[in-house]
Amino acid sequence: MLTSINPVNNLPVKNYSEYTGEDCDKIISLVDDSFEKWKVESFAYRSGLMRNAAKVLRSNSEDYSLLMTIEMGKPIAQSRSEVEKCAWVCEYYAENAEKFLNDEIIKTEASKSFVTYRPLGVILAVMPWNFPFWQVFRFAAPNLMAGNTGLLKHASNVSGCALAIEDIFRKAGFPKDVFRSLLISSKNVKGVISNPKVKAVTLTGSVPAGQSVAALAGSLIKKTVLELGGSDPYVILEDADLEMAAKSCVTSRLINAGQSCIAAKRFIIVESVYDEFEKLYLEFMSKKKMGDPLDEKNDLGPQASIQLRNELHDQVMRSVKQGAEIILGGAIPKIDGAFYPPTILRNVKPGMAAFDEELFGPVAALIKAKNEDDAIDLANRSIFGLGAAIFTKDVKKGEQIAKEKLDAGCCFVNDFVKSDPRLPFGGIKESGYGRELSPFGIKEFVNIKTVYVK
Ligand code: NAP
Repeated sequence: MLTSINPVNNLPVKNYSEYTGEDCDKIISLVDDSFEKWKVESFAYRSGLMRNAAKVLRSNSEDYSLLMTIEMGKPIAQSRSEVEKCAWVCEYYAENAEKFLNDEIIKTEASKSFVTYRPLGVILAVMPWNFPFWQVFRFAAPNLMAGNTGLLKHASNVSGCALAIEDIFRKAGFPKDVFRSLLISSKNVKGVISNPKVKAVTLTGSVPAGQSVAALAGSLIKKTVLELGGSDPYVILEDADLEMAAKSCVTSRLINAGQSCIAAKRFIIVESVYDEFEKLYLEFMSKKKMGDPLDEKNDLGPQASIQLRNELHDQVMRSVKQGAEIILGGAIPKIDGAFYPPTILRNVKPGMAAFDEELFGPVAALIKAKNEDDAIDLANRSIFGLGAAIFTKDVKKGEQIAKEKLDAGCCFVNDFVKSDPRLPFGGIKESGYGRELSPFGIKEFVNIKTVYVK
């Protein structure tokens, strides 16, 4: 049984019966059968359906937003933005997929040689709860447009979202089995990956989940894309606009109650401006209101579950034992639900939980650096390499540091890191490999086929 629990009050919302191995095999066969027809449909036909999906999303935005907020606690305004972003990614690939996947002529001694991009077949997506619609659409829009068919194993706490997404594609007019959800728990993912009809796997989630899925897929020579955790460093240089930087850093730390892979997690500030930055950061963070995510006055709701909230608090407590100091929050509130307040830790250093681990919640780690070089060194001292940001009024220098010195998949200058359908998204090191979104994302699960005509 998979149960959705409202993290606001820790009460069950709905139970869902888990699909058996037999149910899954049946669905996989249907999705595989539908590939044979889907792969030869024209881009124009697929684009029309993908645009319909955007319309379905927009016209039911309130229902989908409410569903997300109830299942995982996201502030309702952020749920609405998420639905809109899903519509955007559908339209983006409806508009551009054909252009991205056009045959490419390559001049050789042949009378004609070219590269053509052919779909692979059934692709499995193992997805997390934190952006329960967006994570799925950024997989589904490019892959369905490329001619693949999709299987979704969503996180066990957002089964309502999993079924709603399957229904969106149906309402949009997609053939019934081009995209299906499998309501299964993580222990049954093995059976799905091992099914010969499943050709590749993408996973967005934690490092252990990525390791397990990639190990099995690798043993079966099935390609994987992994979008894993992060501990994004935000570097504040001496000449930064401190007020703008502090505001941007607070926003990025608190989006989705801090439960974003690309949330700012470590703030590395050069010594000469440390005190001023800390003052501003504390001031802005203190103003943020935690409470019912359905009340638009609140900036953050609960964490997604009591267990995740308790794990976060344990990381805070371990950091304190290791020498960090709490200057805001840091205590579990005496109210129902999975709430954790905006929290600031200072004196954070390598070797502490708040530096070495991913803190998936509204907890900021302030780190003092001796100078610019030290700040960059500290930023890169992480097992992760997903996003990074640098704040400086010297834009040329910022650009050079972003390009050459920060070890991350996405580096932003004077802004917080965000995903955008037009830009590639993904990490290096233990943040994973492969890219989603943009022309790069649509080419992850295609056969890059060479054709040579003598
Ligand atoms: P998670 O526990 O790893 O779960 C993610 C998905 O993987 C869920 O569907 C989960 O199923 C499944 N799963 C877990 N262990 C598995 C295993 N051993 N084999 C197969 N499937 C397994 O992660 P989460 O707590 O949902 O999400 C938070 C993590 O995701 C954070 O680390 C965050 O940084 C990362 N994330 C990364 C990105 C990115 O783009 N890089 C984006 C969002 C989130 P169950 O729910 O059934 O356990």
